[in-house]
Amino acid sequence: MELESILLPGLSDRRPLVIAGPCSAETREQVMKTATQLADKGIRIFRAGIWKPRTKPGGFEGIGVEGLAWLKDVKKETGMYTSTEVATAMHVYEALKAGIDILWVGARTTANPFAVQEIADALKGVDIPVLVKNPVNPDLDLWIGALERINNAGLKRLAAIHRGFSSYDKKIYRNLPQWHIPIELRRRLPDLPIICDPSHIGGKRELIASLSQQAMDMNFDGLIIESHCDPDAAWSDAAQQLTPEVLDYILSLLIIRKETQTTENLHELRNQIDECDNNLMQELAKRMRVAREIGTYKKEHNMTVLQAGRYNEILDKYAAQAVQCGMDPGFIKKVFEAIHEESVRQQIEIINQ
Ligand code: PEP
Ligand code: MN
Repeated sequence: MELESILLPGLSDRRPLVIAGPCSAETREQVMKTATQLADKGIRIFRAGIWKPRTKPGGFEGIGVEGLAWLKDVKKETGMYTSTEVATAMHVYEALKAGIDILWVGARTTANPFAVQEIADALKGVDIPVLVKNPVNPDLDLWIGALERINNAGLKRLAAIHRGFSSYDKKIYRNLPQWHIPIELRRRLPDLPIICDPSHIGGKRELIASLSQQAMDMNFDGLIIESHCDPDAAWSDAAQQLTPEVLDYILSLLIIRKETQTTENLHELRNQIDECDNNLMQELAKRMRVAREIGTYKKEHNMTVLQAGRYNEILDKYAAQAVQCGMDPGFIKKVFEAIHEESVRQQIEIINQ
């Protein structure tokens, strides 16, 4: 893939490249106030969603074309570059007409090759940075495919945005980071900048600092972070937005390590451990959900919670597997005993409801 820098004139090549602004443009006042505060903190690229793909109808679906004029004013009054999400050819035409500097393709759009092709066709002959979010599902080829469609239309200023992946079960994160996927993307396309979106991964503002640090430790190039002058009053994604003040504080705390630093390998390894632990949590939560479903079934059929035969089978099976995997069977027995105990506790709770 032939690529060129996404850095527009005047932007520093020091990590991280920061893009910040509200999830959605809501009112002219909210846009201008947020932008002015961000510009005062030295942010150079403003983001705001004009068209919002909502999971369910009834949510705020974006202010539409009217809001593009506000972004024009942001550019004029603060000197910041502006960026917004495009999902259709019409969005592309309107955004280009309004002089938007950077476009991004949202996660729901990247998942749909027809929609991405429509955007690519609308962009033919235009030289503008385009950031492609990962698709909602953990499919690296679909992500790369979307980048290729836009690249094939002649666009070279491309970057990827890692915003995490949907999952069904209850979880700490709104979207699971699955860091191994952007790491594999880096391996496959080493020249493609990767920007992390800790806002949509975390879903809560408390998680943004640690996710941003993790992204920097993984050698990501940039961060796109949702920031709003009055986060709790935001019309979309209120829980994950930060005031420009808090954003600035979080950015000031980031430790940017050089790739060559000797501790880098250790960081990578620790990140891998963190990811394993997160996956374990996720799988445990899934297992407990299934156990609760079994609890409901047992209740409806008047069965006992404890069925000793099945439990012993599980223990023996995994103790044997443990040896093959280089683990102590006694350790694995302890782990499964603890898991089983919690499953039983949850089933008893359901039966007594
Ligand atoms: C957004 O950036 O506000 C957005 C809708 O994100 P995503 O496409 O990652 O869900
Ligand atoms: Mn959002």
